[in-house]
Amino acid sequence: MYMISINADKCEGCGECVDACPAGILGMVDAKAEVTGAETDCMGCETCVVTCPNEACSLQEL
Ligand code: SF4
Ligand code: SF4
Repeated sequence: MYMISINADKCEGCGECVDACPAGILGMVDAKAEVTGAETDCMGCETCVVTCPNEACSLQEL
């Protein structure tokens, strides 16, 4: 399983990771991206990691 972390200090709220996530588990909360869906649905594709212009997303395999 994968654990996705979004650094709120780095996130500028562009929403690109939310639109790009094929699992649809990211959402905007108070203008910051967060995991709003089931984290177990993350497929570890790293799309959010490479999409974020601010390197706010990081992925860890557990
Ligand atoms: S690694 Fe892929 S599936 Fe997981 S949150 Fe990022 S974009 Fe979504
Ligand atoms: S792509 Fe990066 S800066 Fe944009 S909403 Fe997602 S985490 Fe925030």
